[in-house]
This record gives sequence, structure tokens and C-alpha cells, in this order.
Amino acid sequence: MIIWGWRVRKKTIGTGVFFCPGEGGDRNYEHRQARRWFTIFFIPLIPLKELGDFIECTSCENTYYPDVLKGKTASEIEDISTIAIRHVAVSMALADGTVDPRERDAAVTVVQRFASHPYDLDDLDSDLSSLQVSALSDNLEELGAVLNEHGKENVLTAAVFLAGADGHVDRSEMEVARQIGKALTMSSAHIEGTIQQELSRLGLSL
Ligand SMILES: [Zn+2]
Repeated sequence: MIIWGWRVRKKTIGTGVFFCPGEGGDRNYEHRQARRWFTIFFIPLIPLKELGDFIECTSCENTYYPDVLKGKTASEIEDISTIAIRHVAVSMALADGTVDPRERDAAVTVVQRFASHPYDLDDLDSDLSSLQVSALSDNLEELGAVLNEHGKENVLTAAVFLAGADGHVDRSEMEVARQIGKALTMSSAHIEGTIQQELSRLGLSL
């Protein structure tokens, strides 16, 4: 007598790091694929229907639809934030044509607050000479796609703070601040409100 039947086997078709929604942090995952096999004497012999694939967190063992890999990891978001805020610092420092010592100190303070790694005046000098201010919008668009409204407001607030670091703000600086808000896909009302709020906190006006 031949004993035959079916059995589901899972195999790993890929591995990597993803943001596990269950745990709220970066974890390793296995991309698993399930397939039904035809068995004889319990030995899988013929591959049958593919039952679909899924993502399994190797830490909490929760499983997710493969779409979960489309999200960015926490460290990717950190990298994007750091690069974007360095561009903001350089753009604001250069906006009025001069970089004074107070602006330099303020730029380092702001980048340190946002960045995931240490940042000092030497780093700022190398950014001032090497970063392309023209790349500001592209970097901020990427950041705007992952930040919520509060996060966008924080970035724009930091830009206005930098503009005011030398004790005054001018129109060219506020123009750069508005471009930053637009690149982050903030509404005009939200941009103006955020700018006014930070200016009045700093005791400055245009
Ligand atoms: Zn997990």
C-alpha cells in the first residue's frame, strides 16, 4: 500500500534587515516562501502550488506581508535626516552671503541635535566647502516622505533658528526657509505659521 498526501514546506528565499512593526525597531528578517508538495510515504516528491510568500521577523517571529519591506528602516531614516539637516545647516549659513562665528556654532548645535553621529566645527567646514546647496531640495523631498508634520515643522524651525543665529534675519534667508518648507511638502500656511512662531520666539522680525 502506498501512503500519499500533501505537505506544506517553507523555504527562505532572502534575508535582510527591516523595520519590524511589531517591535518598533530594526530587526533581521527571513523572506519565506510556502509551497505545497505531493508526498509519498511522507517524503515530498513533487512541488505543487505556491502558497505565497511572507516576511518573518527572526526576533519576535511575527510574520508580515512582503510589502513591509517597502518601508524604510530606522537607520535609513536616521541617515536621510542627518544628510538633510546638514544641507539645511549649510544652506542657511550661506543664505545671507556670510558665515559668522555665531552661525557656525548654531549650525553645529542643530546638526548634533538631529544627527545620529557626532558633528563638530571641522565637519561643518568640510560640509560648507563640499555640500551642494542645489541638492537641498532632493534631500528634503526624501526626508519629507518619511517625516510626519511635527517632524517637518522641527526641521523648518531649526532652519529659522539658524537664520537668526547672527541676531537678525533677512529676506534671502526666509526665502531659503520657505524653499525648505516647500521641499518638505508643508502647506504654505503651515510654513508661514512655523516661520512666524520661531521668529517671535527668537524676538526677531523681518
Ligand atoms: Zn519583530
